[in-house]
Amino acid sequence: MRSIAILGATGSIGRQTLDEVSRHPDRFRVAALSAHTNREALFEAVRAFRSPAACLTGADLGEIPKDLSFCQFYARDELEKMVRECEADDVLDAIVGIAGLGAAWAARQAGKRLLLAIKETLVTGGRLIMDACGPNEDGPTLLPVDSEHSAIFQCLQAAGPNKVKTIFLTASGGPFRTWSRERIQKATLEEALRHPTWSMGAKITVDSASMFNKALEIIEARWLFDVTPEQIQAVVHPQSIVHSMIGFEDGAVLAQLGVPDMRVPILYAMTYPERLESGVPAPDFAALSSLTFEPGDPERFPALRLAYETLNAGGASCCVLNGANEVAVAAFLKGLIPFGSIYACVEETLNRLGVLPAEEIADIYEADRLARRAARDYLKL
Ligand code: NAD
Ligand code: MG
Repeated sequence: MRSIAILGATGSIGRQTLDEVSRHPDRFRVAALSAHTNREALFEAVRAFRSPAACLTGADLGEIPKDLSFCQFYARDELEKMVRECEADDVLDAIVGIAGLGAAWAARQAGKRLLLAIKETLVTGGRLIMDACGPNEDGPTLLPVDSEHSAIFQCLQAAGPNKVKTIFLTASGGPFRTWSRERIQKATLEEALRHPTWSMGAKITVDSASMFNKALEIIEARWLFDVTPEQIQAVVHPQSIVHSMIGFEDGAVLAQLGVPDMRVPILYAMTYPERLESGVPAPDFAALSSLTFEPGDPERFPALRLAYETLNAGGASCCVLNGANEVAVAAFLKGLIPFGSIYACVEETLNRLGVLPAEEIADIYEADRLARRAARDYLKL
């Protein structure tokens, strides 16, 4: 029996995690839950899972229903306090954006195992988070939930002592995979939210359309698997059946396959190294007519180029890329800027700020603050 804190419990990943908890009540107990603004959904989840702790991070709690007196509620600025104090073995971090960084940090400071869904934590906190996540006597203290990184992690279980030569990070290509550069620049919100294979929250769906999601994942993979940027290759695979692959010196490649359903990587992180029934069937290979692959195109999707440029620039560059992208995506979701301005904003912010230091957590927050300010200036928000 393991107890789990689920941060971002009302989101797409959070709800699927709760599904898996319900599927295996003999294996998991909820230790804490967080949501941002949806207090009713938080109360409902606390009630259903008898969570002994809960935090609403983006609004006041208001009056707490009488039947929830068994739960200790934390105020909006007390997420990290809850993460430290709750009785979780594992903390599943599925909050959107850099907002998840502090909680991830707090989880590791408190010796809790981190199940990381959110990529922005490693994109911004990279080396610092990895330094805080060395393995202990029970095994890894950080397990990836992002489907590609879970796939790579699963393949690595079969690598033995052999070094990985190349990580092939697959990408669906998003809704604009076949579009011209000009058409992508003018894409509407409705078009950007129409993801061909995955159903996800709004921010990551827009990131998938711009391929900033893949850029963030390239950076995430660099830190998780301690490889150089040049060892990571993004491969567009529109069917989203191959979730990623690792290649070795002898030319052999291992892949992890499955239908595009996050419950598999979520449950694998929760039960590693064991596998339990997840509710997800294997792909129907007879019905799959083909699996296709094509190169990622940095001309039409500059995010793919920016991932390597920021990794090679070092310091807090990846954090600046992330902060500018968060500001631009939020503005695009509100209808304030055209789709093409997301790229322009990130690139201009990176050029304007240069390479900032990333020696300690405070540097990361400062780089994020400067990036957001520069991005807002550029977009005239
Ligand atoms: P979502 O928008 O559906 O849910 C986000 C959750 O975080 C909600 O519970 C929300 O209340 C909370 N939240 C939002 N802003 C917050 C803030 N500022 N502070 C605290 N809490 C906040 O998003 P999602 O699709 O579940 O994605 C969550 C994370 O997982 C993202 O970082 C995303 O990149 C990553 N991820 C998602 C998927 C997927 O299939 N949905 C796949 C891989 C990785
Ligand atoms: Mg992913």
